[in-house]
Amino acid sequence: MEKIILFGGTFDPVHNGHIAVSLAAVEKIGASKVILIPARRSPHKHQKPLAMDNDRMAMLKLAVAGNALFEISPIELNRGEPSYTIDTVRQLKQKFGKACEFYWLLGVDMLGDLPKWYKAEELLSECNFSVMNRGGFEKPDFSFMTGKLSPEAIDKLRKNQIQTPLIDISSTEIRRRIVDGQDISEIVSAAVLSYIQKHKLYTLGHQLSGNDEF
Ligand code: ATP
Repeated sequence: MEKIILFGGTFDPVHNGHIAVSLAAVEKIGASKVILIPARRSPHKHQKPLAMDNDRMAMLKLAVAGNALFEISPIELNRGEPSYTIDTVRQLKQKFGKACEFYWLLGVDMLGDLPKWYKAEELLSECNFSVMNRGGFEKPDFSFMTGKLSPEAIDKLRKNQIQTPLIDISSTEIRRRIVDGQDISEIVSAAVLSYIQKHKLYTLGHQLSGNDEF
């Protein structure tokens, strides 16, 4: 059975941590590809993305250019708000057919919210969720989920967790460094860095302008 990794996020901007954990997950899971799924708006975060959809999409394309393991899906950008993961999973299952098995990658920092996701129980039964550790965060602990999700769902999550390299990079840190005039060249790819500089993204003077076309 072909295994496909789904990796959703705001990618605001995409950073080397996203790419490194994706590649490690490909190895651990034995997947044939990773589909990066930029979110239109995260119902799990209060803050909206600071870059436009077209910029986040362009940076994702630059970050994985030439690497056949990656695909980028605008599926959530094309959907109205709010956008739910279960709809994304169901649409992709229809597209790829029953011969594929899906693994949704999730950093441990998002684990606390998972039981509150729309139709969480159904989502967890329809798709594997691979929780990854993350630099700067505690190891995954599933015990808080007791009573919030079924024992089967919790057991499945425990079994599917994967060890990925601990990389202490976040998009928040990148945005902060840009505002402070600090270097980000080691945490984003050279092409993404040039794009950020050319379009003056994330600087204090940067206005959200342009359009949401990509
Ligand atoms: P922000 O700082 O804006 O919250 P982020 O760096 O967490 O952004 P997202 O695009 O929100 O990046 O993350 C998408 C997914 O990737 C989430 O599941 C998140 O937990 C995971 N992730 C992001 N960075 C890392 C990392 N360094 N190690 C492991 N997982 C990560």
